[in-house]
Amino acid sequence: MKVICVGRNYVKHAKELNNPIPKTPLIFFKPDTAVLRNNTDFYYPEFTKNLHFECELVYRISREGKFISERFVHTYLDGIGLGIDFTARDVQQECKKKGWPWTLAKGFNGAAPVSKMLPISRFPNRANIRFSCNINGAVRQQGHSLHQIFSIEYLVSYISRYITLKKGDLIFTGTPAGVGEVKVGDHIEAYLEGQQMLDFYVR
Ligand code: MG
Repeated sequence: MKVICVGRNYVKHAKELNNPIPKTPLIFFKPDTAVLRNNTDFYYPEFTKNLHFECELVYRISREGKFISERFVHTYLDGIGLGIDFTARDVQQECKKKGWPWTLAKGFNGAAPVSKMLPISRFPNRANIRFSCNINGAVRQQGHSLHQIFSIEYLVSYISRYITLKKGDLIFTGTPAGVGEVKVGDHIEAYLEGQQMLDFYVR
């Protein structure tokens, strides 16, 4: 199983980190060892002093496919949920400066908490999905799939031209504005259409 992530997929988020708006999707990987399920506690890594949360809509791939056309993408999806793209922002800044990949800034152990998946059939209009993220009870991010630069249909079609998608793969579709630091002791909750999906602590 692999985790494929999209960077800068919301205009306001790209701008809040002073990044350009991409003309093609920015794609990176997290290894399967980054995935945390079942609201397991997250342990703050020792190599960063600036850990950011990024709450994202996550889709699960239902079967193997490549060169998937946009109009068939929904037949390759079976679940939707929420995830946190934990990012060691200080490590990422160093990577950016050197022109290096973001692997260590975003691929470390536990860097991808993922909720349970809801059936994709409950979301026939994937351009109209709301989600939000609370830190210690305060709303910090409010996202809507309509504001994505690249839709899930476009993303799966695009990615599958390069990388064969397999059953169980997860696609993180980018974060809306409002990202920020988390500290040890913080309580993270995320909601999909009002339903609580993530509920865990930073230890
Ligand atoms: Mg992200």
